[in-house]
Amino acid sequence: MTSLFSLRNVHKSYNGQVALNIDELDFMPRRIYSLVGPNGCGKSTLLQILALLLKPTAGELFYRGQAIAWKRRELQNVRREVTLVHQSPYLFHRSVRYNLAYGMKLRGIAEQEQGERIARILELVGLTGFEDRNARELSGGEQQRVAIARALLLRPRVLLLDEPTSNMDKKSIDEFDALLPILMEQDLTIIQATHQPDQPQRLGSAIIGMDLGRLV
Ligand code: ADP
Repeated sequence: MTSLFSLRNVHKSYNGQVALNIDELDFMPRRIYSLVGPNGCGKSTLLQILALLLKPTAGELFYRGQAIAWKRRELQNVRREVTLVHQSPYLFHRSVRYNLAYGMKLRGIAEQEQGERIARILELVGLTGFEDRNARELSGGEQQRVAIARALLLRPRVLLLDEPTSNMDKKSIDEFDALLPILMEQDLTIIQATHQPDQPQRLGSAIIGMDLGRLV
């Protein structure tokens, strides 16, 4: 099976300081991976490289067996398949519907189709009936789920999650953990950075331990 992502001798430095130094790492399709390690160990840097938002200082990244050349057209194509959801996602101070419809409007999707997709995606993330709620007035966990719903509406193949539960209370974390297996049924690959020590095992996730920018 072709790997989804492969990294070979990937280095990333900021002002001469090494943030990431990975000799070899492969991600296979339709699996869930958890990046685990202390603050500053390089999890976000790795996620941003996989999202093609950050170019490594050296080394090669492959997507579906193709070496990324960091050319504009290619980046646009891959970014359509790979979506990063940030730790504190930016949502408009508007309804959940407005937030979710925004990207579809830009892509010229008809209004009726937008409504249908929104209803389906809200059911998937457990927020049925939230269409008219102000997105910024929701709990941290609910906002994170709106952000995931927004990402999924663009139908990515890879969902990258940067510490999705870091701003959540216990109840929201439990709801979020219950959501991940449901997302896996969407033919998705999920790569998440997590602070929760025992969550990856509960989910049957592959664990990628990191420290000082390296795999451990
Ligand atoms: P994590 O997500 O595991 O907390 P990061 O990938 O954010 O780790 O950071 C890895 C290292 O790179 C840290 O030492 C951090 O200080 C440094 N770093 C991250 N982003 C930047 C940046 N934009 N400028 C300078 N240094 C950075």
